[in-house]
Amino acid sequence: MKICVLPGDGIGPEITAEAVRVLKALDLKIEMEEALLGGCAVDATGNPYPEATQKLARVADAVLLGAVGGPQWDSLPREQRPERGLLGIRKDLGLFANLRPAILYPELANASTLKPEVVAGLDILIVRELTGDIYFGQPRGIEVRNGERVGFNTMIYSESEIRRILRVAFEAAMKRNKKVCSVDKMNVLECTQLWRDVAIEVGKEYPEVELSHLLVDNAAMQLVRAPKQFDVMVTGNMFGDILSDEASMLTGSIGMLPSASLDANNKGMYEPSHGSAPDIAGQGVANPLATILSAAMMLRYTFANEAAAQRVEGAVKKVLAQGFRTGDIFEPGTKRVGTREMGDAVLAAL
Ligand code: NAD
Repeated sequence: MKICVLPGDGIGPEITAEAVRVLKALDLKIEMEEALLGGCAVDATGNPYPEATQKLARVADAVLLGAVGGPQWDSLPREQRPERGLLGIRKDLGLFANLRPAILYPELANASTLKPEVVAGLDILIVRELTGDIYFGQPRGIEVRNGERVGFNTMIYSESEIRRILRVAFEAAMKRNKKVCSVDKMNVLECTQLWRDVAIEVGKEYPEVELSHLLVDNAAMQLVRAPKQFDVMVTGNMFGDILSDEASMLTGSIGMLPSASLDANNKGMYEPSHGSAPDIAGQGVANPLATILSAAMMLRYTFANEAAAQRVEGAVKKVLAQGFRTGDIFEPGTKRVGTREMGDAVLAAL
């Protein structure tokens, strides 16, 4: 198993170090090699996704990423911003399916801003299309028309792109509670009318799965009103960007949420759902659990090692039950620990 490790910027190096320790402790045949992505890559090479990283990422079976970005790179030309590195590697590796589970651990029920009865036992999976939509559509730009500046982007999806992401959602639902909710805005956007039509077609291939549809505005509302009605939610790149962040906050801590981005052959990039948290970088206080849980998803989806995945997830549950908390999930009566100590606790639980 070849893993390309991309620590990235901000808290990225601190949290990936803990996930790497966990992977090493599992006694599996794993080779890991590090490379640069994001702001650190811009500083070193001028390119947020340098050639050496491209080579390594392409031959690896999986990529473990910390996070990229930070205020020091925000004023660079768009092509050199760290986020371009992230979009670049997703596109380069053909990672079209982003899987983001939002699970509420019972020990952290108070961390949610919603009432415990609304979120207790929450377990939903947001499947977001990652390589198409308005984020990549052409034409795009800012230009002067009739004496004023105009900004424009193109929302575009082909039916094959829609079909493959819907299949990922239906396959995931088959292993869960057999419910898929497809989210679109078909009342105003033709592109998403096609999305709905194709969703209905793909749904016919999965008669055991209950398919429903929501307009994105209603979906955003339902997610905070009654999130437990959902099992798998599937949507396009831009709607998914927003809804997956909303869903993650139902659980109260972004520091707990892993994600997987897969290609057609289950090669994947695994990363926490949060960003590089420049406000706490270098302090040793970041929560490494989202990254450790991302490594567990890697074991499950790319390496098809369910037992190892569950071992890691079980260790995380155990440290929460033991009362270990980083600052982001701390409550009076629990033990406040830093990034390294949290990693130590997971290793001990393993
Ligand atoms: P963020 O997720 O980095 O931080 C939001 C808040 O959550 C901050 O207060 C931060 O301290 C806290 N937080 C995040 N992760 C945490 C953790 N593991 N433990 C404890 N607290 C944690 O979002 P932001 O502030 O909007 O963005 C910061 C930078 O990250 C920006 O440059 C942005 O572009 C980038 N970003 C990168 C990714 C990625 O690499 N996939 C995703 C989102 C944002």
